[in-house]
Amino acid sequence: MAYIEPAPLKDRENPFEAMMSRFHVASQILGLEDEIYNVLKSPSRQVIVSLPVTMDDGSIRVFEGYRVIHSNILGPSKGGIRYDPMVNLDEVKALAAWMTWKCAVVDIPYGGAKGGITCNPREMSSGEIERLTRAYTTAMFHVFGPDQDIPAPDMGTGPREMAWLMDEYSKMRGMTVNAVVTGKPIVLGGSLGRTEATGRGVMVSAMAAMEKLKINPYKATCAVQGFGNVGSWAARLLHERGLTVQAISDLSGAYYSEKGIDPEKAVAYRDANKGSLEGFPDATRITNEELLELPVDVLVPAATEDVITGSNAPKIQAKLIVEGANGPTSSKADSIINDKGIMVVPDILANAGGVTVSYFEWIQNRLGYKWTADRVNRRSDRIMKDAFNNVFKVAQEYKVPMRIAAYMVAIDKVAKTYKYRGGF
Ligand code: NAD
Repeated sequence: MAYIEPAPLKDRENPFEAMMSRFHVASQILGLEDEIYNVLKSPSRQVIVSLPVTMDDGSIRVFEGYRVIHSNILGPSKGGIRYDPMVNLDEVKALAAWMTWKCAVVDIPYGGAKGGITCNPREMSSGEIERLTRAYTTAMFHVFGPDQDIPAPDMGTGPREMAWLMDEYSKMRGMTVNAVVTGKPIVLGGSLGRTEATGRGVMVSAMAAMEKLKINPYKATCAVQGFGNVGSWAARLLHERGLTVQAISDLSGAYYSEKGIDPEKAVAYRDANKGSLEGFPDATRITNEELLELPVDVLVPAATEDVITGSNAPKIQAKLIVEGANGPTSSKADSIINDKGIMVVPDILANAGGVTVSYFEWIQNRLGYKWTADRVNRRSDRIMKDAFNNVFKVAQEYKVPMRIAAYMVAIDKVAKTYKYRGGF
């Protein structure tokens, strides 16, 4: 289960405004008509539900749950469900729009959505979380569906919650509908390769970008912030491709070694140490802020949003930033990073490996068939590489940063589809 501390308040941006500022720039370069601009900036549906849940002590608590469908122009909407005390409608709206752009960038036939419940799963028992998840599923029964809207895990949720969601939805339908949700345990129809998919996509994007920047991976160094699902897989796979991983970090702090850290050893240490890198040996302890400013070739922020801000962007020394996390770079930092000539592979491209393999999970469920891990990896690598090349081409052609190019590719695709469908 994933839980991430929020960034310090002073550096937090309203996520919807941060997303909109990039959307606005990309739309202007594309010359998007006002009508289409207005359609695409507004979520198509926002559902807010009250969820009364019996707590273990017999009291009843009412939680607020959200599901925002930003767009279903390209296909059924897709997006995770977040359990976190900070969940609010603005955040869910921004994340839903991000999903639309992410699916469009990697060219998979999904729209974008996001859901969330304002709750603190760390203070709830497993029984309370199960009752909350089932109540949310019942309340969203008419929103979810394998051809309508397909949830997945996000911060604070994982395969366990997806299994409850699938079970509750299936009971209401009177049949097993495993394609209603992705990120399920393998025995319930989850896909091989899903766990490492996002980190793997980060690695594929990083390798593609290094090729363009003529950085030799065997001579390159990298630093990875966050050592959860995305960060630890990205570190392992980059290490496998020859990079020296000089620093890793988690909430306990950052760990640096000039000669390099073996990510496999770090994973073993973390897993034997209640999920924390606290006390990791053979490395110098530094802060998470210092990690971001190291003179490495590749920096992978894979923890949380708004870590590269207007304040620290001038001190970033990496040649390439590959965004494993969603929204790690604030919009204020964008121009500073661009002026420094640092290439950024933006979140909607770099971390799209996860939703790509979620799409494969959905396909397998609908086929009633299972793919090998090898097939999953080969196909997702190809999608990620093609998407990178496509965005890179647009960035070159329009002389814009990769982030704006990624938004342009995505917005153009959704806008064209909308026009063909004749939505007005
Ligand atoms: P996770 O909970 O598995 O790991 C998060 C890691 O970041 C942990 O090691 C945690 O200790 C660390 N961390 C949290 N706050 C930190 C901070 N302020 N400084 C340093 N370290 C910090 O989460 P995850 O699934 O790996 O997700 C990480 C990011 O990637 C999130 O932004 C998430 O939205 C994004 N993402 C995840 C997926 C996925 O498939 N898991 C897909 C797309 C995007």
